[in-house]
Parts: sequence; structure tokens; C-alpha cells
Amino acid sequence: MTAQTKLYEGKAKIIYPTDNPEILLAVFKDDATAFNAQKRGSIQNKGTVNNIISSKIFQQLEARGVKTHFIESPAPNQMRIKAVKILPLEVVVRNIAAGSLCQQTGLPLGTVLKMPLVEFYYKNDQLGDPLLTRDRILLMELATPEQVDSIIHLALQINEFLKEFFQGCGITLVDFKLEFGLDSQQQLLLADEISPDTCRLWDVSAGDDPNRRVLDKDRFRRDLGNVEDAYQEVLRRVLEAVEKG
Ligand code: UDP
Repeated sequence: MTAQTKLYEGKAKIIYPTDNPEILLAVFKDDATAFNAQKRGSIQNKGTVNNIISSKIFQQLEARGVKTHFIESPAPNQMRIKAVKILPLEVVVRNIAAGSLCQQTGLPLGTVLKMPLVEFYYKNDQLGDPLLTRDRILLMELATPEQVDSIIHLALQINEFLKEFFQGCGITLVDFKLEFGLDSQQQLLLADEISPDTCRLWDVSAGDDPNRRVLDKDRFRRDLGNVEDAYQEVLRRVLEAVEKG
């Protein structure tokens, strides 16, 4: 495996081909970016932490009937995955108001939503990942109506599992981002990662303290310090929860 063979390099992962065209290798990086890559840095051991957390969560979801791209984790910072064509959609599920929802609606940070909110953003760096509507998705042919319906259904199912799973870790799941892809049979699979990079996770034991409770990438985005410690703490609790079953 050399640098020349890489198929694609994103902000957080490098994708390599394998001998089997249906299988790819994702190598998770320590590089961290925020605000559409205007802020750049590195979080020590992030690649390993995010791969292990994502791998464990994908395995748990598979066991509950959610089809994912996960095959196995051959090394601490690597995931063997099924090759998929990623839909250019960021699917965000929210339980509590934070981030862009507060900025765009004026809802105060921490407002508990009466029901989970599923949103779609267009994965397009040049346009700054704008919020989409269902009709815009169909207009631009980013997904079919059936795919949109399936994605909403899966996103809510994944949210129900993750909320309970993180609750068992003493963590409140505020919101998170999912990506989906289509395999060679046009089957919809959950792809990308589920990690402190892609979720907002608040430590229950920190109460309402707006800075101390943050166990996710907001520590990096907002320069709150102790970023590595927060990621390690999530990993520790996730592993503990998986072991307990
Ligand atoms: N998110 C992500 N990648 C993105 C944008 C958002 O993983 O490119 C996650 C983010 O970490 C949070 C959720 O999606 O858990 C909702 O993010 P939001 O729309 O509030 O945007 P942000 O405040 O992160 O700009």
C-alpha cells in the first residue's frame, strides 16, 4: 500500500483500492478541519479513536438490521469497507438544538426538540454545504423519492439506537451527521463514520456547563482545549458499553 495507490483523500480519511473491486480500505487520519476547512489542525490519535468508535457502532447497527459499509477493522486506524457510490447528501439528525440550527432559527442552544429533526445538506464545499429541501433533492436528482424515504426511516432508526447507546455511556446525543451510499446492486448502505467528529456529544455528569460538557469536535471548533482527552473519554465509554452488552 503506497501513497500512489490512493483512490481518494478526504478531510478525515484516505481511501485505498484493494484486490477486490467491491472492497476498499479506509485509513482514518488525525487531521482535523472545521468551518469548511478554513480551520485546520490535528487531533492526536483521532484516526484510531474515530475508527474504533465507528467500527463498534457499525457492528452494533448491523446486529440490529441496519446495513452499513463496514466489513472489518484490520488495524486500529483502518476499516475495510464495501465500495459504494456516496450520495452527495449530509443527513443530519437532531435531538437538541445546537450549531447551525440555533444560528438559522434563533432557537436557544440546548432546546430539547419535541421530536427528532432530520435535515439534508448538499455535500458541496464550493457552495458551503447548503440546507436542502426534499423537492430540491428531487429537482437536482441527488436521490430518488424512494431513497429519500428510506434515508429518513433509517436515520430515525439509527437515532433511536444511538440515543439509547450513548445514554448508557452517560452521554447525551445532541445531533449527528450520516452519509449513505449505493453498492453495485444499488442497495442503500450507511457509510462514512459515526464518531466525535460527526456527532455532538454532551457529558451528562457535567450538567449544564456549556464548555465542560462537550465531548466532541466542538472542542476543536471552539478552541475549548482538552480535545484529545474528550475523544479518548468517548472511546473508553463506548468500549465499556459494548463490553457490557
Ligand atoms: N456535521 C458533520 N460534518 C459537516 C457538518 C456537520 O459531521 O460537514 C455534524 C456536526 O458535527 C454536528 C451535526 O452534523 O454533529 C450538525 O451540524 P450543524 O449543522 O449544526 O453544523 P455546524 O454547527 O457543525 O457547522
